[in-house]
Amino acid sequence: MTTRRDFLAAAAAATIAPHFNGPLCAGQKRGAAESEAGKLGYALVGLGRLSTNQIAPALMKTEHSKLVGVVSGSAEKAGKWKDQYAIPDDNIYNYRNFDRIIDNQEIDVVYVVLPNSMHEEFAIRAARAGKHVLCEKPMSISSAECRRMIEACDHAGVKLAVGYRCQYEPHHLECIRMAREETFGKLQHIDAGFGFRIADYPVGDLRRWRLEREMAGGGALMDVGIYAIQACRYLTGEEPTSLMASEIKTDSKKFAEVDETILWSMAFPSGVSANCTTTYNFNGINQFRAYSEKGQFGLKPAFGYGGIQGTAGNEAVRGENVDQFATEMDQFSQVIKQDGTTKVSGIEGLRDLLVTEAIYESIRTGKRVDVAKV
Ligand code: NAD
Repeated sequence: MTTRRDFLAAAAAATIAPHFNGPLCAGQKRGAAESEAGKLGYALVGLGRLSTNQIAPALMKTEHSKLVGVVSGSAEKAGKWKDQYAIPDDNIYNYRNFDRIIDNQEIDVVYVVLPNSMHEEFAIRAARAGKHVLCEKPMSISSAECRRMIEACDHAGVKLAVGYRCQYEPHHLECIRMAREETFGKLQHIDAGFGFRIADYPVGDLRRWRLEREMAGGGALMDVGIYAIQACRYLTGEEPTSLMASEIKTDSKKFAEVDETILWSMAFPSGVSANCTTTYNFNGINQFRAYSEKGQFGLKPAFGYGGIQGTAGNEAVRGENVDQFATEMDQFSQVIKQDGTTKVSGIEGLRDLLVTEAIYESIRTGKRVDVAKV
């Protein structure tokens, strides 16, 4: 019987299986840029809330990754980061001169932390500069964009990963193990939801992009509903075949451009059904529950940066709370160093976008929709 320890070891090893993205090309301007400590150099593109409050602090704890550069539209902001993190002038870029990063041997990985609609452009520019790409979720705002990003990274021979931090979180890994090993019998149904009440940012406030279709590609679904999609996909290990969705809008002014609350159900090939919710209208929904033949398990809160907990039958789900961003970046650095494969590849991001597109189509048509295949 596979023990929990074996499973976690196998899950970790699966992220560094060799030669998925192809070997490194000789003479490429990257790869030899590890610091004296053997850490890979990361440059963050977009110095907003996530970079400031989560990613940069995480990079102070990482074992295989370190913060060496920033890319920002604001010279003032970049200056503050330079002082706080001792970033050399040569490693500070803006959106216009970003392509010069090709000549920077200290930067191995570009981490794209911009509004969703800017992910494609910067991921592709980073790939063309020979840098590995870690891109925040959602990978982009359409499946067509995802495909172009994957193609650009493949063409450049660099690795592409999506910031799906929950896939490295020990409680989530434990739930995946219970689902796959059928600890409570065959998995039958999943209930998952994530949402929050978003502020009504005024026009001119840079944070307003989440309420703008052109910048965000969608509302709650693109931002946080994607965690529910992910949970259903990694618990079942399957892709949904069809789904049915509906939207509820209570504030058509605030949510003139993006979705507010979406409810959807998905059918999986093995017969598992899933019921999901996402919202920008209320706080508190942050969980998943998996129902199996002989019992249930799940997490609540499930998708935050910390404090993850849950129950499996009458017991607590085992797992320690880790810095998910530090783990995610260190795993990616190890994949790069060992020329392995990442479980959060561009294909994983593309699959989620195909689900979101099916959800929007179902809302538009009022019909059940088949989910397109990769
Ligand atoms: P934010 O609004 O706090 O920061 C966005 C950054 O982009 C800012 O530095 C801003 O100056 C810059 N920017 C450049 N051009 C811009 C424009 N035209 N409009 C607005 N901002 C512009 O956003 P955030 O919360 O840091 O989110 C950034 C990305 O990270 C998003 O893709 C988001 O989905 C993702 N994210 C992921 C998680 C996670 O847990 N993995 C959490 C939060 C956000």
